[in-house]
Amino acid sequence: MEDLRETLFYNPKNGYDRLDTRERLQLEDYCREYMSFLNDARTERESVKYAIREAEKQGFREYTPGESLKPGDRIWVNNRGKALMLAVMGREPLENGAVIAGAHIDSPRLDLKQIPLYEQDELCYLRTHYYGGIKKYQWVATPLELHGVVAMKSGETVEVTIGREPGEPRFVITDLLPHLAADQMKKTMAEGITGEGLNILIGSVPYADDGKDRVRLAVLSLLNDAYGIQEEDFLSAELTAVPAVDVCEIGLDRSMIGGYGHDDRVCAWAELKALFQVQDPRRTCICILADKEETGSDGVSGMQSTAFECLMEDLCASQNVETRRCYERSFCLSADVTAAFDPLYPEVSEKRSESKLNYGMAICKYTGARGKSSTSDASAEVVGYLRGLFDREGVIWQMAEMGKVDQGGGGTIAKYMANRNIDTIDAGVPVLSMHAPFEVVSKLDCYMTYKGILAAYQD
Ligand code: MN
Ligand code: MN
Repeated sequence: MEDLRETLFYNPKNGYDRLDTRERLQLEDYCREYMSFLNDARTERESVKYAIREAEKQGFREYTPGESLKPGDRIWVNNRGKALMLAVMGREPLENGAVIAGAHIDSPRLDLKQIPLYEQDELCYLRTHYYGGIKKYQWVATPLELHGVVAMKSGETVEVTIGREPGEPRFVITDLLPHLAADQMKKTMAEGITGEGLNILIGSVPYADDGKDRVRLAVLSLLNDAYGIQEEDFLSAELTAVPAVDVCEIGLDRSMIGGYGHDDRVCAWAELKALFQVQDPRRTCICILADKEETGSDGVSGMQSTAFECLMEDLCASQNVETRRCYERSFCLSADVTAAFDPLYPEVSEKRSESKLNYGMAICKYTGARGKSSTSDASAEVVGYLRGLFDREGVIWQMAEMGKVDQGGGGTIAKYMANRNIDTIDAGVPVLSMHAPFEVVSKLDCYMTYKGILAAYQD
């Protein structure tokens, strides 16, 4: 009977019951590097810079369209400083397809409006327009830092980072004290804090002068001293407020990682580290770090942009291969995070189908909402292929779905890859508190996602 149970039942096991000591040590090394990436790369632009810096140490160089490449060559293509594509050329021609892993490096945040600065009752504020799906109440009464660029009329770009380094000032959106919040507390969580209410406190000392808006003048004068900018320069700026909280280990057993932007830099890092590991692969391996996933993958730096075609067409043309032939034989892991089952909120999940912390890389056959709407839905054959590959390569993994039927759902870049006629499946790290200013993942799942992507690259 016991044997029969063991053979016939599908019985996933906790990853820690399957991990040997050697892998436990590797997992710690891997996560230490990931944590410093996550701590330093707080926007898509910073992620691109960090990735290029690391890639150059690993022998990657910038690709020039038209150049001919040989097996083993390592290249990168920078899409406007906001998205990045890297490749290691394979021994086999692109006619046999490529192995692609695609993650995104943008995360939910508070973007400054184009005319953000105002003074109210002798306090100075920055107006914001939030980016991506957020629960607005989570962004008040928490420290924020400012990152981004100001594009000057001269063509010069000024980089701004305030609040990341110890000792630098930080910013905050204030909340109402409970003593006076009786009316606010009767509102729903969606209404308690509004989008137009997300205004960041940036200064309080008036300029020593007569006249109005003296605090605003003082703030502008500080910005002018530090960055040489005037109020009008905000018009062509991309400045964003992100949580000013350091990445850290979570739990007495230090088994988890807390931080801002795991979605989806945790998969971006897994792809990068896996690609760095690849030497002389059979098929060409491609790593995509996309922008704009959180707002629908539109725009020049999103996954719907033909920037990806440009690279693939160039690579294919240099081998006299038709791009569509390459696509139809390619395989893509859409590496994105998924919702982990949260025992504090079991009502939104169907426990059997949800990914769990420490059960490894989570594979989503489909995403979507209301009857799998808008999903790419990987074919059974693709899932079958991955099951075989991961079992062979010792990747701890699990099947996942995002919430109960009709509870909600979500999208990734998977469908935009699949629409190109590339076999694609979602796979990534389960996350607790996804899209919150402080998200939590398990170290084991981070490491296994890296191992899963590496297995695909090396197959
Ligand atoms: Mn994501
Ligand atoms: Mn997301």
